Amino acid sequence: MHNIENFDFTNKKVIIRVDFNVPLNDKFEITDDTRMRAAVPTIKKVLSSGGAVILMSHLGRPKSGPEHKFSLIHLIPELSKQLGVNVQFADDCIGDEAINKSANLKPGEVLLLENLRFYKEETSGDEIFAKKLAALADVYMNDAFGTAHRAHASTAIIAKFFPKNKMFGYIMSNEIQNINKVVKEGKTPITAILGGAKVSGKIEIINNLIDKVDNILIGGGMMFTFIKALGGKVGNSLVEENLVETAKAAMEKAEENDVCFHIPTDAVIADKFDNNAETKFCNSYEIPDGWMGLDIGPETGQAFRDVIEASETILWNGPMGVFEMSNFSQGTEDVAFAIVDATKKGAFSLIGGGDSVAAINKFKLQNDVSYVSTGGGAMLEFIEGKLLPGVAAIDD
Ligand code: AMP
Repeated sequence: MHNIENFDFTNKKVIIRVDFNVPLNDKFEITDDTRMRAAVPTIKKVLSSGGAVILMSHLGRPKSGPEHKFSLIHLIPELSKQLGVNVQFADDCIGDEAINKSANLKPGEVLLLENLRFYKEETSGDEIFAKKLAALADVYMNDAFGTAHRAHASTAIIAKFFPKNKMFGYIMSNEIQNINKVVKEGKTPITAILGGAKVSGKIEIINNLIDKVDNILIGGGMMFTFIKALGGKVGNSLVEENLVETAKAAMEKAEENDVCFHIPTDAVIADKFDNNAETKFCNSYEIPDGWMGLDIGPETGQAFRDVIEASETILWNGPMGVFEMSNFSQGTEDVAFAIVDATKKGAFSLIGGGDSVAAINKFKLQNDVSYVSTGGGAMLEFIEGKLLPGVAAIDD
């Protein structure tokens, strides 16, 4: 497998699948350029090594065909600024304009193609469409980890047209290396902290982690399904009744595997889903009717802290409570600071999944943990042990 570090890009045209799915305001200005900034080192590496770059991405969820609000043309000024070159644009990702502009591209130049998802063939993984994209370049590079769990034309299918000249960009290889530091090379004790609203999206990862980790800490809305499974009274807290048995089975499996499953013993409860609600601390197994648990309590916060600080490898996905509201953010903050302290003592910490990333950013701790993963869904599927199509297509 080729590597971006030692490949000779001289006079090569490199088509890079990037994740430029950035949020835009109503003036089409980028409101968060994290994803674009993340791709800059990969692009600059190819340019400085004598190659020309053709960029392709999706943006938003266009329904059927081109829509101005989802055009990648809005990204040209910022991208040109970040790369320090005048980025060219093809207003269709395939067809004559894309072919001509790609053919005329010189080393050091950059062409951005229009939104891939203006064609339904992108998400359906159409081979003919992928072949047309492939025809524009000599080398294929995938640097869009956020879509690596999808077998789309540009993320996976296209790779077959570059049997030799295909590779990961820096984002992809960093993500894979860092996730492997947890799932393949994690030093024990390994602790997984899982929170967020629902069990439904996380049960597979919980089941998959049971034979890989030493501790599983459960927080967030999903803790109440586990507490219900243990016979607790959860009042009006979020519960997925249809998953109570599944939760019970997961805890039994954990016990058989000697994995410590930590369920919160106390909670911050509120009389409504509102930052200004009346609140109190409560035993998490005895929540009165009319009250709902919106955060882990202080006793649990301390217990979780102790487990985290004694860990060598830490994986965190999902907030411990409704951290967007200040009165229910303490548990998430406790966990975040405990992870930072453990990291300072030498532990490896991986944070991933949209809301835990938002939380770590909110507490301004993103530089105090080992790695913050950008691909929420893709990261979870990778940890679940699934083969990601975008990874498999290159790493065959
Ligand atoms: P997820 O997308 O499943 O990771 O869920 C993240 C969301 O879960 C965040 O927006 C939190 O506000 C929410 N959440 C966390 N704890 C609770 C809770 N106890 N009850 C309801 N929602 C919660």
